[in-house]
Amino acid sequence: RAFNFNAGPSALPLEVLEKAQQELINYNNAGMSIMEMSHRSKDYDEVHNEAIARLKALYAIPDNYEVLFLQGGASLQFTMVPMNFLKEGQRASYVLTGSWSEKALKEALLFGKTAEAASSKENKYRNIPTLNEIQFDQTDAYVHITSNNTIYGTQWKEFPHTGEVPLVADMSSDILSKPVDISKFGLIYAGAQKNLGPSGVTVVIIRKDLLEKANKNIPTMLKYTTHADSNSLYNTPPTFGIYMLGEVLKWVEAQGGLEGIEKNNEAKAKLIYDVIDQSNGFYKGHAELSSRSLMNITFRVADEELEKQFLVEAKEAGFVGLNGHRSVGGCRASTYNAVPVEACQALTNFMIEFQKKHQ
Ligand code: PLP
Repeated sequence: RAFNFNAGPSALPLEVLEKAQQELINYNNAGMSIMEMSHRSKDYDEVHNEAIARLKALYAIPDNYEVLFLQGGASLQFTMVPMNFLKEGQRASYVLTGSWSEKALKEALLFGKTAEAASSKENKYRNIPTLNEIQFDQTDAYVHITSNNTIYGTQWKEFPHTGEVPLVADMSSDILSKPVDISKFGLIYAGAQKNLGPSGVTVVIIRKDLLEKANKNIPTMLKYTTHADSNSLYNTPPTFGIYMLGEVLKWVEAQGGLEGIEKNNEAKAKLIYDVIDQSNGFYKGHAELSSRSLMNITFRVADEELEKQFLVEAKEAGFVGLNGHRSVGGCRASTYNAVPVEACQALTNFMIEFQKKHQ
């Protein structure tokens, strides 16, 4: 297997891929793949409901929340959130911590008034604003954050308390990576293609009282209530993606649940951050220490020419996906749940050797 540090779509657990391969052409002795079955069949129904139940159990999601499986990626959630919850004359507040929050804000501007609750743009998105820097009104429709900033490599360690104002989080790049108290949030959304499974399914966790308050006069497919009322079976769901998600959730359970996964993720990220910190400036981390992400480790090689060489040699050595996002350049190692510790160890060895050779 390649050492896959892709930012998304990303590595999937080998065990999950092997199981899917085994079941690919004959699921549960049905003589067909899960992909070929009706989404109204008993076999698929079990897959669908089990995936919901497993996600609820892993996060201990309270009963007053719904889990939805939608399509359109996290990007469609940038639109659906304001379309459903921003009422005429009302305002929504966005914390800007990177390009994805900027994109989310841009969509909200199409539906109503918005405000920046805080922003770390002037600091090149190296940090997450502190909780007391975040400003919003009790009359705001919601406060929106991006829990992990895939491009800049920063991550919230503690979430803001927004009281009666629903907190909405884009968790696309750190969902399922650690325990989170879901009751702090009004709505959480995440494209699946990093920690949850293949691209094509978008998970939404939504507090039920928000469903009742949502705007009514919007297209059927873009209403959360449409999907909540039909258990995410209003139309044909991405059945294979949801099957894969269910298998990934079983795998997370086998890793010791979210506590076990968090420990692995901390150990993996530490290996790489330690090399950066002990390199005497040869490697430079982008994020401020207190905001460092456990999922996306962003760094530069201090010398620009050497950085190009680093990326070339890394590729030759079998490391995939180490180029930073095309908008910022540099290097990025995405160490999502399914990236094995061995891959991180191999990368640290490579980084140390590269420095020795070129310093
Ligand atoms: N939000 C975050 C934090 C992301 O990392 C990404 C993609 O990488 C997106 C949103 C966009 O997701 P999608 O491609 O599912 O629309």
